[in-house]
Amino acid sequence: MSVIATTPKFKENAHAALTDARLQGALSFSRNFTDRRAAAADRLPEFEALRDSARAIKDHTLAHLDLYLAAHEEKVKESGGFVHYAQDADEARRIIVNLCKSFGAKSATKAKSMIAEEIGLNDALEAAGIEPVETDLGEYIIQLRHEAPSHIIAPAIHLTKKDVEEAFRKAHRGLPANRDLSEPEALLAEARAILRAKFLAADVGITGANFLIAETGASVIVTNEGNGDLTQILPKAHIVIASIEKIVPTLEDAAQLLRVLARSATGQDASVYTTFSTGPRRPEDPDGPSAYHVVILDNGRSSMLGGEFEDMLRCIRCGACMNHCPIYQAVGGHAYGWVYPGPMGAVLTPSLIGVAEGGQLPNASTLCGRCEEVCPVRIPLPKMMRHWREREFERRLSPAPLRYGLRFWAFFARRPALYRLATNIAARALNLLGRGKGRLSWAPLAGGWTDYRDLAAPQGATFQSQWRAKSGATK
Ligand code: SF4
Repeated sequence: MSVIATTPKFKENAHAALTDARLQGALSFSRNFTDRRAAAADRLPEFEALRDSARAIKDHTLAHLDLYLAAHEEKVKESGGFVHYAQDADEARRIIVNLCKSFGAKSATKAKSMIAEEIGLNDALEAAGIEPVETDLGEYIIQLRHEAPSHIIAPAIHLTKKDVEEAFRKAHRGLPANRDLSEPEALLAEARAILRAKFLAADVGITGANFLIAETGASVIVTNEGNGDLTQILPKAHIVIASIEKIVPTLEDAAQLLRVLARSATGQDASVYTTFSTGPRRPEDPDGPSAYHVVILDNGRSSMLGGEFEDMLRCIRCGACMNHCPIYQAVGGHAYGWVYPGPMGAVLTPSLIGVAEGGQLPNASTLCGRCEEVCPVRIPLPKMMRHWREREFERRLSPAPLRYGLRFWAFFARRPALYRLATNIAARALNLLGRGKGRLSWAPLAGGWTDYRDLAAPQGATFQSQWRAKSGATK
């Protein structure tokens, strides 16, 4: 199923998510990731230095992207493979569908690709009479449920064991009603049995890529299930779909990035499988595809180069920012309404589908800064969300009360003396309103907060007065 962008409805989606008791129960699991990442970082003394190095590798690559793309293409050709460039989603779909048709494909196994989600590849394959089969367990489950992923590394994190059992009972013909599927191991065995036949029958394997290495022409994917290996080795053709910023210069650079990727994503020192794929099968290879194609997608990314959102192209899709985001933790990934959720989605989505469609997402943040704190490539996500908010404001896309409220605030903020006077008066008035309880169940213009919870009444002097008293400032 292609992802239908409901991004402009973020508020409605978030409301629905917050009142969904089943979803709230399922989301609590994702909180485990934060402890695991912290423990993995503690185990590696050079973790912070590695983050600096990861950022430097990505910045260097972005500054010379044209050269490294050309070098990668050269190496792929040398190995007997082909590279195709797609300007947008339409072109990428067309290239992949035509390749699949050229191999006479009836079915295609797929592994590990958010880019395939971005371009709506499954719909295009189905329309061409080719059965797409997701082989990552989470992706397979959501494919059965006709849903989009809700997390970039844990696509079915919004589901419970019960949901998965229901999906299997509905979709797997011949599954005995009395088969016990109450435990994860049983669910895994059931999915494995079905997928094994699909792996063997597939004519084409389509994988994403965590990295494309310019030095060797290799594509790299990391998985914990081994499905990536079976997807690219068993069929007669292997198609890699990746976006332009997945290029890294050398094998050594990929190795450095891999050291921060798994630790940031799942708290593992390394993912269970790290698979390098370099061209089609050579005469001395025991197995492998006879054809190897890499489709490299731009889809608006090149216009981010050199601009205030270029840093976003450093993203290595670890998911740490969403694992640590209080908004993502509360509403889950589907509320974001498109492919990329959480803080990285709040910056990337408006860049890819436009601020008019995706402009609500940068507002889905408390700007607490946890995302930037944990990002392995140190992307300044809060700063970029503020940039998008400015764009939304300038284009008059934000709600009128917010725009007028900001103008009102800006009037005072530019006049420090008046600002101090106004905040003093407001603090005293609110203090009076909350007298007795120390809390307010109503305050002017604060209905968005007080409709759901009390607001603490201001106590004592304002921050500015306290600061002046402490620093001895006279102004
Ligand atoms: S923005 Fe940073 S933390 Fe978030 S997915 Fe990308 S690399 Fe990971």
